[in-house]
Amino acid sequence: MNKILKSNHTKVQSNVFPSGPTCRFCGAELRYTFVDLGMSPLCERIISADQLNQMEPFYPLHVYVCEQCFLVQLEEFVSPEEIFTEYAYFSSYADSWLQHAFKYTNLMIKKFNLNEKKHVVEIASNDGYLLQYFNEKHIPVLGIEPAMNVAKVAEEKGIPTLVEFFGSDCARQLTEEGKSADLLIGNNVLAQVPDLNDFVQGMKILLKPNGIITMEFPHLIRLIEQNQFDTIYHEHFSYFSLFSVEKIFASHGLKLFDVDELSTHGGSIRIYACHDDDELKPESEKLKGLTKREIQTGITKLEYYENFNQHVKETKRRLLSYLIKIKQEGKRIVGYGAPGKGNTLLNYCGIRTDFIDYIVDRNPYKHGKFTPGTHIPIYSTEKIFETRPDYVMILPWNLKDEIVEQLSYIQEWGGKMFVPIPEVSVVP
Ligand SMILES: [Zn+2]
Repeated sequence: MNKILKSNHTKVQSNVFPSGPTCRFCGAELRYTFVDLGMSPLCERIISADQLNQMEPFYPLHVYVCEQCFLVQLEEFVSPEEIFTEYAYFSSYADSWLQHAFKYTNLMIKKFNLNEKKHVVEIASNDGYLLQYFNEKHIPVLGIEPAMNVAKVAEEKGIPTLVEFFGSDCARQLTEEGKSADLLIGNNVLAQVPDLNDFVQGMKILLKPNGIITMEFPHLIRLIEQNQFDTIYHEHFSYFSLFSVEKIFASHGLKLFDVDELSTHGGSIRIYACHDDDELKPESEKLKGLTKREIQTGITKLEYYENFNQHVKETKRRLLSYLIKIKQEGKRIVGYGAPGKGNTLLNYCGIRTDFIDYIVDRNPYKHGKFTPGTHIPIYSTEKIFETRPDYVMILPWNLKDEIVEQLSYIQEWGGKMFVPIPEVSVVP
């Protein structure tokens, strides 16, 4: 341990911050920086024209790694109530995400023999992008979604949706109403939960004795290896490895029995979990394999985390050099996609309308508005065709294949596309 303390870890001096943040899972004091992205506004809080001259709240994007359980995490500065009550992200605006949901549904129905007698519950069901496919096959579903405006869209599609934050109270209430789950789904939600222990306890309560939980989340190892610092934002409180999730689940009487590695969101994992006394579900070879690989990579050593901060700074310098070069050639650059990750990148790198004329997005909710902090105007995708820019920076790099195809027409005027992450590179 002494050796570790003497190395380059950015240790927060406890005499400066006497009551520092603590780990949201194990309660240990958080003393080690994973990455510090400075101050940033909430990334989904796009602003309207009449707000342009008003003050905007900025919060620290300082990510820590817990030296006890190795959970990588941000402090909670803004409550989920404030973030998610009106949410601008509608899952159904991404074609590839819909396809992913469709494939998942078929896989689950086949793998676990789901039929009209089973009950599928999804936490953070968004606009019903996934449950709609179970619904089509007459499998009873229930969505739980805290954002009222998004839940309303799901209800209009015929997906019963409870507008609430999930936790042990919600789970107890549903169980009493006979609404326990045979399949309990949570995709890209675990990161957004400030009270992790209460949430996982809730899943334990809501799951039927032989039920199955599946959860998908971006894999921390991919975040580190692929330099995906732009997936860090205030809405994402935690960043998981298989190792950390297994620990959290085990402490609530749940065990993992399988895992899939997925290409979504730049590299995710889907875990399969059940009650820890469910003997029908032995641990798969895939799970054992990935657990071993994580340990070999160094996931249980602080050294593994320490270089990330430096890599991120280098990426910023390289991206800015590239943009400056293009601008000095007198070219015009626009952005594609105004997702959360775009805003972390833009704010951290200080990219405003001095580099990017505007951003286009497929979500009509964002049109006529401006990116938080950086105030870049957002238009519909047609704007690119009208203004014929020289370069398009693709911000949601995880959807780059889909976007490259959609924008292939810019080749007509010699337009080029590039992604900023993991390194600036022209695509395709
Ligand atoms: Zn911890």
